[in-house]
This record gives sequence, C-alpha cells and structure tokens, in this order.
Amino acid sequence: MKLSEIFKRYSTEEKSKRAFKEWRDKQGIRCKKCWGTDHYWKQDKWQYECKVCGFRTTLKSGTVMQGSKMPYQDWMIVIGLMSATKKSFSALEIQRQLGHKRYEPIWLMMHKLRVCMGRRDDKYRLDGQIEIDEGFFESHREKDKPKIKRQVAILVMVESERVKEAPKNKARPKRKAGYLKMKVLEKANQEAIFSEINTHVRKSATGITDGAGCYKKLENIIADHMEFNCSDPALAHKVLPWVHIAISNAKKICLGIHHSIKREFMQNYLNEFCYKFNRRYMIDNLFERLMVACVEAPWFAFR
Ligand SMILES: [Zn+2]
Repeated sequence: MKLSEIFKRYSTEEKSKRAFKEWRDKQGIRCKKCWGTDHYWKQDKWQYECKVCGFRTTLKSGTVMQGSKMPYQDWMIVIGLMSATKKSFSALEIQRQLGHKRYEPIWLMMHKLRVCMGRRDDKYRLDGQIEIDEGFFESHREKDKPKIKRQVAILVMVESERVKEAPKNKARPKRKAGYLKMKVLEKANQEAIFSEINTHVRKSATGITDGAGCYKKLENIIADHMEFNCSDPALAHKVLPWVHIAISNAKKICLGIHHSIKREFMQNYLNEFCYKFNRRYMIDNLFERLMVACVEAPWFAFR
C-alpha cells in the first residue's frame, strides 16, 4: 500500500477503529475463558460477548494492541508505514510523520510489531540446503562495558539451492535464496548454535558451513553437513553467498537507519529484516499480511 493510500484510509480515529474491527471479524474471536468462537457484538460497548459463557473481549484484547492506550489511528498508520518499505523507518521518523509529541510510545509500538513479525516467522522451520554462519553486529555502547562487549553474535541460516543455469550477471550468486532466519546468540559457541539449529531447522536439512570448529559434527543433529574450508574470503562468498548478502544488508539498515541499537533489542530489528526478506516477492501485500500477524498475534501480554 502506498503512503498516500495509508493516510487516506486511516484519516480519522473512527475509520481506523472500524477497519481494525473488520480485520478482527475476518480472523475470528476466541473466548479466553471457554475457547468458544461464537460471539455477539456489543455495539454500545465496542466489545465482543461470548455466546456460551458471556465473557467479554475488548477490540484490542488478544491482539498487538492489547494494553495500549495509543489510538487506533496511530496503530494503523504505524503498521502501514512499517509495511510500506522493504527497508525500515526509524521511530524518530515515524514520530515526525505522525506529529506525535512523545518518542517512547511510537518506539514501543514498533517493537511490538517486530515481535509479531518474529513470532510469525518462527512458525516456519528451514529445510533443504541451508547456508549457516555467524555475523557480528555492533551494538549501542554502554559506558561501563569494554569495546569487545559491543559485538553481538548473530546466527544466520538461509535456505539456498543451486540454480541450474548460471546467472547472466556474473556478480549474482549461483544459488537461489529461500527463507532466512537471523538469531542473536547469547554466546558464539557450539552449544548455543546447535540449540538454535535444533529449534529452527528441520532434521531432514543439509547444513552448508565453513570449517569453523563450532560446526563440527553438525551431521549429528541434522541429515547432512557440507563443510568447506573457507580460509580464502573469495571462496567464503561463493560457498555462503546469501549469508553474506543478508549480513551486509541487515548491517546497512541497522547502522544507516537505526544507528545505535541496544543488545536487548537487536533481535527485534533482525525480526523485521528477516520478515521483509522472506516476503520480498509479495511486498505489495505486506500490509495485509502484517495485519493478520497483529490480530492473531499474542496470547501473551506485552510488557
Ligand atoms: Zn466463553
């Protein structure tokens, strides 16, 4: 959806609220008390009432907006802005576009949306041939921490199949990327890496890695392991092209748009990057998809 369209469609609070209700109705309400799915709509209270047990659900409850005092209009516009670009907007830029007085509520909305994106992508597990490697991202400098602590280790896993015909443009990789995942590692050791692979990769997959010690015996946890000695960086780019492209593009967004990211929020930014990468061929439908993720999203309360 184009920016002009977003601002036109959600030009008032009333319009935005009605649009959000349509999304909820489309996806269906589930009663928190009895799990019933049949509800009456109480127009006077703007609440759903369970036909079985009478339990009431507000329009925001059980969605990304749960507990938020921000108007529907702000939410719809932020969802629109965040899905309008392949790259990203900073919270400061969105605050400016909305003409909002405070930065924090905008920042919080955006992070909640990034959590939704991550949860959506976590439903999918990688399969086939998968490039696996770590990248190191620089995080916000905290005064009392030494420089080395600023480096955040990220595990990058991307489905990558060899293309049959060599691409005409020689600079393009000879592999085609599928789904991508990037996960912040507490420590860049084998235990942490294998734990992520166990969670996010199917047992039938084949891992493609360099010769680093932390990938030794990868074949013990998934079907196969193709290991390449990549002491020459040019070879590393050939063997793991998509890992390198993902790291370099994600870094550009982290540094260029968001500047200084605290370690604890790094995963959220990566969620947004991966979510958009994984839907790169359906960028025009990103708004609709993100709305679905937001409405059905959290069975947990955001802090
Ligand atoms: Zn009920």
